[in-house]
Amino acid sequence: MKNQYPILFALFLFLGACNTPSQEPITTVKAGVQKAPAYAIVIHGGAGTITKANMTDEKEKAYREKLNEALEVGENILKNGGTSADAVTQTIMIMENSPLFNSGKGAVFTNAGINELDASFMDGKTLNAGAVGGVTNIKNPILAARAVLEKSEHVLLTGKGAEQFSEEMGIEQVDNSYFRTERRWESLQKAKAAEQKTGDISYDNPDYKFGTVGCAALDKQGNLVAGTSTGGMTNKRYNRIGDSPIIGAGTYANNNTCAVSSTGHGEYFIRYAVAFDISARMAYLKEDVATAASTVINKTLVEAGGTGGVIALDKFGNVAMPFNTAGMYRGYAKPGERVVKIYK
Ligand code: ASP
Repeated sequence: MKNQYPILFALFLFLGACNTPSQEPITTVKAGVQKAPAYAIVIHGGAGTITKANMTDEKEKAYREKLNEALEVGENILKNGGTSADAVTQTIMIMENSPLFNSGKGAVFTNAGINELDASFMDGKTLNAGAVGGVTNIKNPILAARAVLEKSEHVLLTGKGAEQFSEEMGIEQVDNSYFRTERRWESLQKAKAAEQKTGDISYDNPDYKFGTVGCAALDKQGNLVAGTSTGGMTNKRYNRIGDSPIIGAGTYANNNTCAVSSTGHGEYFIRYAVAFDISARMAYLKEDVATAASTVINKTLVEAGGTGGVIALDKFGNVAMPFNTAGMYRGYAKPGERVVKIYK
């Protein structure tokens, strides 16, 4: 009997050690020991030449209010135990329905004077994804992107087919004129006049894009989801589609690494697979989300000449919002924390 005490003591220590991780999931990464918050949500409303000098107080207030409203909607879903998929969808819809952003209502115009919209959605748990490109009648393209993920065998549907699919899924359709705002119409006229003078389509002109919206969320179940929605670039032709509906460029999510949404000069984001590259750096190089996102935006893209930014969120709720432009509409919320920013 006496000899059994050391064995029992060892067993007690062993069970104690086994028990701790399951009660308190703590994981060690490069940045130190981290514990995920209950939830986290991060958004962007586009990157560009957004400076205090070219902003009125009134406009700034309107942007801040809308970004706060979008965060509020997403945060409430997450706080109440809702999914990151629902938080991303509803948050993006707030911004799609606002004329302030280049997505949904307020989207920029094509050379032909219409609005062609792109959106994508990715689930970090399953790596399933859905996207629509070049759609002209879907009121909230993010709903169509999510439906492609959830209700089709495909990842990317474009044009008339995407519209037909979304209509069959019961998603609201509108006349193309619904998306029109005078501000974006004027930008098209300016872009065309400048193009006639210089022969340059000047996609880098800050007036001609920016205002794409995106969201990444982490729910209480630990699932990451990302989504992006845009009107693309002013004066675009030939059914040009940018990075926003391209999985790995405009949007990416993987529960093992991070969720990312991009905004900026789409051609560069496609060529440098920006959203995937951030995730890959975390997976292969064991970089933390801030290092990975900043390296891709401030080094890889800057060296290539690509302008823009991303929002990125890891499974621990760490947020990164790097951009290499003057400003980016952005913000995040976690339990007890809310941040909305515009300038550098
Ligand atoms: N990335 C978008 C596109 O190239 C535009 C933007 O984010 O401003 O279509």
